[in-house]
Amino acid sequence: MENLIEAPPEVRLSGANARCGVAPCDEAAAVELRGTPLCPQHFVPVCTQEMESRGERLKNGYYDVAATQAFKNFIAACAEHASKFMQNDSLADGLTKTRLEEFLRRVSQMGQRLRRSPRMSSSVPIYLRREDSGRTWEEETWTITVSQHGASLVCRHPVETGGSLVLSRRDRANRVQARVVYCRYNSEGWREIGVELLDRDDFWGLAPAARIQPS
Ligand SMILES: [Zn+2]
Repeated sequence: MENLIEAPPEVRLSGANARCGVAPCDEAAAVELRGTPLCPQHFVPVCTQEMESRGERLKNGYYDVAATQAFKNFIAACAEHASKFMQNDSLADGLTKTRLEEFLRRVSQMGQRLRRSPRMSSSVPIYLRREDSGRTWEEETWTITVSQHGASLVCRHPVETGGSLVLSRRDRANRVQARVVYCRYNSEGWREIGVELLDRDDFWGLAPAARIQPS
């Protein structure tokens, strides 16, 4: 688990002679969705269903960096292929183009919903650094959740509970010392760590700006 395994793209161009995998259709396939070849007509309903069900899962489940990133990649790939079909008269007739247009609208709505999701705001880009002599490393990562005095985040390097790390925000110049309070593998197989922030108040800017201090 030292290195991230790059997941293969979920949507990709299909092989030259592949036929659509949605029975009883036998049209030439244009793309593959995780190995299932799809013609442009069937690309739309299959990908719409996939998109809707993953959107629901993210809405109902807790925010997960890896799943959200994979979903964003999926949406981007869907949009890219749908746009290409639209421009290709030999792949898409009039009716298919109308459906592709509708599909592209839903894709863009889903993209906006993902960006607006309140849990997204807890995804803060971070440089995570270990500064012990002889075992220094740094990686770019994101928080999964943040709280006033802590955070959970994905960490690709092995760390031990009680270990010291430095978090620097990639979006500003802040840095903070932190102690690892837990380390586990989440449902996506990523190493997730929890840290307690040590030497700064309100590192994330969570405190209401106008709060009046009790006297
Ligand atoms: Zn088909």
